Amino acid sequence: MKEPGMQKFSIWSLLRNAASYHEGWQRQWRSPEPQREYDAVVVGGGGHGLATAYYLAKEHGLRNIAVVERGWLGGGNTARNTTIVRSNYLWDEATHLYEKSMKLWEGLSQDLNYNVMFSQRGVMNLGHTLQDMREIERRVTANRLNGVDAEVLSPQQIREILPFINLNTRYPVLGASLQRRAGVARHDAVAWGFARGADALGVDILQNCEVTGIRREGGAVVGLDTARGFIKTKKVAIVAAGHSSVLASLAGFRLPLESHPLQALVSEPMKPIFPTVVMSNAIHAYISQSDKGDLVIGAGIDHYTGYGQRGSFPIIEGTLQAIVELFPLFSRVRMNRQWGGIVDVSPDACPIIGLTPVKGLYINCGWGTGGFKATPGSGWVMAHTLAQDRPHRLNEAFTLDRFYNGHLIDEHGAAAVAH
Ligand SMILES: Cc1cc2nc3c(=O)[nH]c(=O)nc-3n(C[C@H](O)[C@H](O)[C@H](O)COP(=O)(O)OP(=O)(O)OC[C@H]3O[C@@H](n4cnc5c(N)ncnc54)[C@H](O)[C@@H]3O)c2cc1C
Repeated sequence: MKEPGMQKFSIWSLLRNAASYHEGWQRQWRSPEPQREYDAVVVGGGGHGLATAYYLAKEHGLRNIAVVERGWLGGGNTARNTTIVRSNYLWDEATHLYEKSMKLWEGLSQDLNYNVMFSQRGVMNLGHTLQDMREIERRVTANRLNGVDAEVLSPQQIREILPFINLNTRYPVLGASLQRRAGVARHDAVAWGFARGADALGVDILQNCEVTGIRREGGAVVGLDTARGFIKTKKVAIVAAGHSSVLASLAGFRLPLESHPLQALVSEPMKPIFPTVVMSNAIHAYISQSDKGDLVIGAGIDHYTGYGQRGSFPIIEGTLQAIVELFPLFSRVRMNRQWGGIVDVSPDACPIIGLTPVKGLYINCGWGTGGFKATPGSGWVMAHTLAQDRPHRLNEAFTLDRFYNGHLIDEHGAAAVAH
């Protein structure tokens, strides 16, 4: 019998399994007992952590790896986000990193042999003031110089794509940027696809395994205390999004992060009507339509810090006001569900990916409200950093040190709505 997780998905395997009422599929990944020791342990079974483990095994040949997750796979922000994927950031450092991710997205379903439903339907960022339009033109030019597709749309061109948009909002819509290669993906499939791929390469995925302590000797990591016992290891990657500061404090250092609730909501399903993704910073909302038909709507962060995975009502109210202002035809659509995630916001709206003051301990955090789009690229550079004990060229600017030496990469303008 084949190893679990090795079963190939194809039209033939779908047909074969349809004939047996889909009861013959293998489990997608194992549920092993923790080993006493691993060569490397990734803390956090979200998309970024699972991608790190996958690329560590695939690109760097490490096999004796574990991913430890305190709850279930994708129970964090991975499956709570609004799934917008784009790479049109302003500064070279950020653009190169997100564009690496975009290229990986473009081949991800084939690479993982798992349909992550990546749909390149375009992302539009609306401009409502002259200053917005100047920033859009600057960013579009910078993107093109970096080989990233980007264009400026006039109000007329916006209307051709979205005939029902109201351009006369409280701040009239003067234009937009459009990245046509951008779009959305299916969030939980991303976690499951990476988990299945990593498992097939021998990675142990340990769920219900909260890390409660990070043991060090002589300034270096020697192992982790977990809910399932002590695990010995000399290499640990903290990839824990909103809980990164909690884990860093277990290792005796602080991160320049704030953890805030961020909310999203979905409507009742409707026929396909919304062909792209629209974001508006000025009136503060973003929206797309899922393949199932629901409108997927994202809010801004709640301004208090906290770890409760829920947000406040005034934020939802403001978000829906903005959506109805832009798209009055949605005013009678009912909302089905609302939820929150905890995002790790850094001072310059850019991630921290690299080494820490503790030898053998690496960190990948600070993605704030915009890390889903980076999932494959983030895992790819993190795997390199862990395997080589130094950052890859693509993440060498994203150090923790930049908050001491002042080399910040300010992406507040391009980081979009939620920040
Ligand atoms: C409402 C919302 C909308 C968003 N929309 C977008 C968007 O449209 N586009 C975009 O690019 N990004 C978006 N984001 C941001 C994006 O979701 C995150 O930046 C990204 O998913 C974070 O990386 P991750 O997936 O690995 O985190 P997570 O999935 O949160 O993974 C971290 C994991 O670490 C685990 N963990 C924590 N502490 C411990 C511990 N002590 N021991 C073991 N495990 C632990 C958690 O349980 C969790 O599963 C959004 C976020 C939210 C909340």
